[in-house]
This record gives sequence, structure tokens and C-alpha cells, in this order.
Amino acid sequence: MKNEVKLYVGESLGKYGFPHGHPFGTDRQDAFWKEAVKRGLDKRSAITDPRMAAEEELRRFHTPKHVAWVKQKSAEGHGSIDYGDTPACPGIYEAAATVAGTALHGLDTIMSGYALRTFQPIGGLHHARPDGAAGFCVFNDVGVVIDTLREQFGIRRIAYVDIDVHHGDGLFYPYEDDAELIYADIHQDGRTLYPGTGHANETGKGAAKGTKLNIPLMPGMGDAEFFEAWEYVEAHLRKHKPDFILFQCGADSLAGDPLAMLQYTPAPHAHAAKRLCVLAGELAGGRIMGFGGGGYNRANLAAAWCGVLDEFLKA
Ligand SMILES: [Zn+2]
Repeated sequence: MKNEVKLYVGESLGKYGFPHGHPFGTDRQDAFWKEAVKRGLDKRSAITDPRMAAEEELRRFHTPKHVAWVKQKSAEGHGSIDYGDTPACPGIYEAAATVAGTALHGLDTIMSGYALRTFQPIGGLHHARPDGAAGFCVFNDVGVVIDTLREQFGIRRIAYVDIDVHHGDGLFYPYEDDAELIYADIHQDGRTLYPGTGHANETGKGAAKGTKLNIPLMPGMGDAEFFEAWEYVEAHLRKHKPDFILFQCGADSLAGDPLAMLQYTPAPHAHAAKRLCVLAGELAGGRIMGFGGGGYNRANLAAAWCGVLDEFLKA
């Protein structure tokens, strides 16, 4: 069924997270799922099981050294995978490889014509770099998808749109000089929030200059400023004409997130999802993958992600 939306949830995917009161706990998938059931979204989606990525798949984006390091730290089960934000708990390798493997399953499903859109709430780990974990992100599932689209499917012109409150540095910098990676990111200003990057003058390097759009918003800004910024994202995508769209819809940009200071209601996430489905239809054969990203207030992530899924189902 061509118009089917695949929704990826399952026990092994929900295990991605960190213990002892860490904001990225393992209860986030469940918070989303309860709300999705309440709204009847589960009945309209094709629910699909997660799968774990093989090492060679992770190495499409990551260095062999980073993959080996995560495996070692996961087996040790203590300490930190990065400089302190991302703890090494037992099984984190398997859980992180499942986030990436599930994204690859979604990609295969779209590329083989079984679906046009996928949504994966536990995913969009946009701070992980090719050679390192960062900011709660162990493996960069979206980076693995981008490099797979290119290597396995020959699709090069890919748009990455990120409305998480944090800048998507783990996707921005590896593709900074890549003219075919069309990047658009609305986030809280890096002078006031981790990871400190994503300034408006960062537009890409060399031949890629102008293919990257960073729109920082100051703390306290909300829906009005988002909707104004959004028009630039649409114009950017229309100008650069991607063949595939990836959407990271972190819910930490909503008012009341414990880690950040933007003030959105759930409306921007639903609007972005709706409009990206329209743009995907016009430019990219309808193909779009959605990833939950950050979001640490459980009610907020449930509302924002269900809004996105609802728009994917209606498109
Ligand atoms: Zn975030």
C-alpha cells in the first residue's frame, strides 16, 4: 500500500536512553505511545518492529574506532562515552545500533515502495559525529541514512530539516562542504544553549555555500517567530530541490522543556510536518522520514510527536 505510514515502536527501540534520572530516560517512547493510542493514531499507522544495525552499516557514517569504542564502553557499563553528557550504561551499544538499524529499515521500506512516510519517535540523534558521541547521542541514525541513500540508492540531493531546540551539529559539520546536502535548522541561539553552534552566518563552505540555512531564535521566542522563520525553510527547500526529505522534530523547543528556553506550543511541529509532506510531494516523490529527536518534558514530546504523526497520516 503506497500511502501507508510506517510507525516504528518496540521494546528494543524504547531501551535507548540513560538511567538514574537522566533527562533522556528510557520512558520517552512510552510517553509518546500512550498519547498516540489515546488519539487513535496507532490504528491508522502500520506499526513496524525495530531492528539492529550491523557494524558495517554504522561504519557508513561512523569511524570504525568510534563503533569499537561504543561496543567496549557498553560492555564495561560504566563511565562516559563522550565528555560527560552521554553515560556508558550496559547495552547502550545494542540500543544505539537499534536506533540506526530501525532508521535503515524505514529507508528500505520507502525505497522499495511499501511506504512514502515513516515516523520513528526514538531517533534523530543529531549530535553524534562520525568519530564521537555527544549530547545524549551515541550513533547518528540520520547520518547513517544519508550515507546509505547515497551509497546504496544513488540518491544524493537530500534535505535535512531540524526543529529541535538544539543545533544539529552532528549533521551540519560533516556535510558543511557538501553542496547536495540541503540543510535547514531552526534552534535556540547557540550563544545561549548547547552545542553553541548554528549561527546565521554558517551557510556552508566552498561549493556548498548557500545550501545550509541556520535560523537561531533567542530564549523566550515562540510560535510567532517560528512561523516567520519557517517561510525561509520552505523557500530554501524549493530553491535547492531535494529528492528526499529527512525531518528531525525534537520536542525540546516547546515551552516547559527542562533543558531549553524556547516557548512553542505543539502547533509549529504539526505545521512543519504538514508543509514538509506537501514539499515532499512536490519535490521528492512524497518521500519523507520523521525522527523524534530531543524533548525532555514527557507531555510535550507526546503532544508534538503525535501532531507530526497525525499530519503524516493525513497527507
Ligand atoms: Zn535537543
